[in-house]
Amino acid sequence: ADRVSFLNINFDRMPESEAIEVLLARLLKRQGGRVYYGNAHTMVTAARNPALAQALEQGDLLLADGSGVRWGSAFLGTPLVHNLNGTDLVPSLCKNGAAKNLSIYLLGAKPNVAEIAAANLKKAYPGLIIAGTQHGYFSDSETPQILEAIRVARPHLLLVAMGVPLQEIWIDQHANLLPEITCMGVGGLFDFVAL
Ligand code: UDP
Repeated sequence: ADRVSFLNINFDRMPESEAIEVLLARLLKRQGGRVYYGNAHTMVTAARNPALAQALEQGDLLLADGSGVRWGSAFLGTPLVHNLNGTDLVPSLCKNGAAKNLSIYLLGAKPNVAEIAAANLKKAYPGLIIAGTQHGYFSDSETPQILEAIRVARPHLLLVAMGVPLQEIWIDQHANLLPEITCMGVGGLFDFVAL
């Protein structure tokens, strides 16, 4: 793996197999941290939204997602050749982690979607532990009890599926309250997995 600066954002460049290995080790060692995917939409939004740019800067791992970033980074001479995204990586992590009692918590999407997504993942990877679920339409006043529920459930991985830039900003503001839990922004993943 190496770090590649593209439009002032530092990406971690690595092939998918290495990303799975690095992430699974981080999760099972309970290293915590913030993991983001950057696609073209993320980059454009970060250029206009300082809170998102700051969240990405504070991330422990930023993985390049999609052909827009691949094309743009190659054009500027810093090619991010690997296409890494939550839709591919999360099922791989669940698959590889299931035998090691990997536990995940699903936060985000509309009511009931996270529950259906969790049930589908559990069906596909029976050893996987679903530590909990919570929809992504809650108020600031509900945040403390949501954080407490996640802390008590103590998953290895918290998937935050609230879209860009909300999920990155939420993680940036709250990851320090979730020690030993790796937080990952995954966009519309639950909607796909719930289908
Ligand atoms: N979402 C949410 N809370 C909000 C706004 C959106 O949980 O306040 C969810 C929405 O239901 C959807 C996801 O965030 O499941 C965003 O999906 P999208 O594909 O738009 O994400 P992006 O393209 O930003 O990765």
